[in-house]
Amino acid sequence: MLRLRLENINKVKIKAKVMDYSKLAEVYTQLEGTTKKLEKRDIVADFFKICPAEQLPIVALLVQGRIFPNWAETELGVAENIMVKTLAKTAGLPEKEIKQEIRKFGDLGEGAEAVFEKKKQATLAYKKLTINKVYENLIKIPEQSGSGAIELKVALLSELLSSATPKQAKYVVRTVMQEMRVGVGEGIVREAIALAFNVEPGLVEKAHNVTNDFGEVAKIAKKSGKAGLEKLKMELGRPLKPMLAQKAKGIEEAIKDMGGKAAFEIKFDGMRIQIHKKGDEVTVFTRRLDNVSRQFPEIVEYAKKCLKANKCIVEGEAVGTDPKTKRPLAFQKLSRRIKRKYDIEELQKEIPVDVYLFDIMMLDGKSLVETAFEERRKKLESIVKGIKGKFQFADQIVTGNAKEAEKLYNKALKMGHEGVMAKNLKSPYTPGSRVKHMEKIKPEMETLDLAIIGALWGEGRRKKWMGSFVLGVKDTDRGEFVEVGKVATGLTDADLEELTKILTPNITEEHIKRVELMPKVIVEVGYEEIQRSPTYESGFALRFPRVKTIRTDKGAEDADTLDKVERLFNMQKK
Ligand code: AMP
Repeated sequence: MLRLRLENINKVKIKAKVMDYSKLAEVYTQLEGTTKKLEKRDIVADFFKICPAEQLPIVALLVQGRIFPNWAETELGVAENIMVKTLAKTAGLPEKEIKQEIRKFGDLGEGAEAVFEKKKQATLAYKKLTINKVYENLIKIPEQSGSGAIELKVALLSELLSSATPKQAKYVVRTVMQEMRVGVGEGIVREAIALAFNVEPGLVEKAHNVTNDFGEVAKIAKKSGKAGLEKLKMELGRPLKPMLAQKAKGIEEAIKDMGGKAAFEIKFDGMRIQIHKKGDEVTVFTRRLDNVSRQFPEIVEYAKKCLKANKCIVEGEAVGTDPKTKRPLAFQKLSRRIKRKYDIEELQKEIPVDVYLFDIMMLDGKSLVETAFEERRKKLESIVKGIKGKFQFADQIVTGNAKEAEKLYNKALKMGHEGVMAKNLKSPYTPGSRVKHMEKIKPEMETLDLAIIGALWGEGRRKKWMGSFVLGVKDTDRGEFVEVGKVATGLTDADLEELTKILTPNITEEHIKRVELMPKVIVEVGYEEIQRSPTYESGFALRFPRVKTIRTDKGAEDADTLDKVERLFNMQKK
């Protein structure tokens, strides 16, 4: 799916009128010159106005410092050392000198600018760099793999940098390192489209929610204004962004949040799926909007058999189930199926999935997103003829009684599910938003006391402080701390200032952006789940870690051990 959509974006380059990268670089410079959101919006809007419509899909991404849309799983994946190597090669200087320059500025982009500024009169000959050329080379980078991949990546980047002026080089480098820092995100892009093409921001947002593509929205707004955007409808085969849930404090609070009465459903721990059915054609999308129909042929078959509608979009959770015990499997097992592109049948036997449906967004070609949830559920029930244990509704009760909801919660946990969801009966389906009318309730995991064993310097306003921290757990076998993840959440500016002060004397090694630290400072860390991880030395990673307190009362000897992490991981599986 992603490939398909990227191919569509790629086609743009053939048709688009070629625009110079210098124009975009000018825009970045203007954006850097102001901290005011309205001014940024105006700058982007003025730029959108002069861009040819066909160029807008690329420009809407680049102006945010992005190459791929945020739902895409593709990442550029250019490490700092590859960039240093590229700069050295392009400028014809030793890597050591490049590193010095970068350290001076604390920023790869500015370091690159300084390097090329020095080389200006000497060797570099500028060719005109176009926006399309930059985009074309950058999207080729993640495609390089296997032996020689690094050299190919370096060549693609070097080709751009040798045609760039020093200022342009700064922005190319920042785009590649995904640290554009000009303060433009989706919000400003939305407002800028509205302003540039004289349409309501609300309409732009609606169009975005059903297309997931500001580039497409900008293009349509430019070509056919309000009427064009209004026509942009939910389309079978084009996924819409899922509605996201917030976390409730507890069951009683959730009932209150939902207006005194709510639908409670079991919260299954699997993969969120959006099923599009058009006659006998069925497509299954994940929450990241990837097409996984091929990986899950049984879901396609169930949908063909059980959905009694010609055209519909329904949503649910696909849960991996242990074929013997019939209990839900950890999400990570299921993710093997998402990744598998061959021998699908074999894995299907090992990790069969059950589907629990909980929403419907389109029926017979008509959008239901404005329809109240209780009505949507009725519509869903009217078109599904389920197969018990395979393709069915999410268990649901409607109540204002906390005791009753708690019964469902306990039942869910006993069955090995995650908890419950509370939903407002009167609320619409708002694609792409984290909403107050759908809340999750699940048990808190026991916190961990972990040592800070490294840190990354902050960015922008937080540049002078350490901004995120490498967490270590004690491996008693090896007698050292091993990494279980990084944390940046849960800390105020004052915390960062304090941590920087108390951690600085513990620095053992300094890199451009990261420092290694003696494990002396302990933090209490909350998280949602422990996962197995090939990335971290400990073999585990924490999902959504957040610092609860800095435990100044504790030292390295009080830190939690790898054994405990493993024990908690096993408990969570049960
Ligand atoms: P979380 O990923 O913790 O933010 O929780 C939200 C996710 O729970 C959704 O994206 C769904 O994948 C999943 N989920 C499981 N059961 C339900 C349900 N009955 N209703 C809505 N979402 C559910």
